[in-house]
Amino acid sequence: MSPQPSLPSWMTWRQRPFPDANALLLPGRQPVLVDSGFVAHAEETADWARAHAGDIGLVVNTHWHSDHVGGNALLQARGAGIAAGAPEAEAISRRDPGCCAAEYLDQPVAPYTVDVSLDDGQILRLGETDWEVIRTPGHTPGHLALWQPEERLLVVGDALSDYDVGWVNLALDGLDAATTALASLKRMADLAPRVLLPSHGPVLTDPDAAFAGALRRSRRLVDDPDGAVWYGARRIFSFALMIRGGIPADEVESYLHARAWLTDAARLLGRTAETLAAELTTTTLRSGAVVLRDGRLHAAAEHTPVAPESLRVPYPRVWPATEPR
Ligand SMILES: [Zn+2]
Repeated sequence: MSPQPSLPSWMTWRQRPFPDANALLLPGRQPVLVDSGFVAHAEETADWARAHAGDIGLVVNTHWHSDHVGGNALLQARGAGIAAGAPEAEAISRRDPGCCAAEYLDQPVAPYTVDVSLDDGQILRLGETDWEVIRTPGHTPGHLALWQPEERLLVVGDALSDYDVGWVNLALDGLDAATTALASLKRMADLAPRVLLPSHGPVLTDPDAAFAGALRRSRRLVDDPDGAVWYGARRIFSFALMIRGGIPADEVESYLHARAWLTDAARLLGRTAETLAAELTTTTLRSGAVVLRDGRLHAAAEHTPVAPESLRVPYPRVWPATEPR
């Protein structure tokens, strides 16, 4: 957490390596945390937030992927409310088995409920300032950005970062998900923000350059659906390796065959799951995104270790029913 000259003093920004999304803390009468990291680091996230802002009153999620909502359950147990984009809020409330794509992606999330459903154009008092909810579907259908007009700050979630754009799930969200993501990027660029706060990597202080690169990459995903499927598969595979401390080389293909995301990707690419699993392993090793060390395949990207027992949380299909609050 280094001081950010481009950011106002009333916010605390924390850049975090995978598998945790970056965190934004907005102190005030009701302190707010935007995105709560991965489940394995929930305790650390909650303690950090409390140390810097006191008891968290509200957690706002940019979207429901495991690296953004993993601290929700613990913070909720400590008294925080949870706010999320309307489609995700509704799915969480009815305990849809597809919640957080947790089972689909095999990315554990501890059970939580949503107290505040957010819609496009809504103005939220977060900490001491007003923010506008900007719906930015694409990476997930419920993805949202947060816009602070006085400081011209835009929290962009996984929509873009300094090195890429959010992967899109063509199998789950439809073949037009890439087009939807591109439209969301254009909408964000039209706000002409001064600074972008992405969920991974550093703060972006040259939004024009960042959007130019992101729009180019996003258009490629529209023009090349197979490439988009490959891109998503590589990101999901890499995340799986990170949260498991690597996977033994002789088990990795059987792990991959058993995954819903892999079989869906194989269908879209016109391959068998076995062929895709083998190809994914070979190509990521060749590109250097995955490395073989001590008989295990590991993700090469920097990441914080995860204790294996912290992954033992139930899939949403068996989450306890929501109680009226
Ligand atoms: Zn995500």
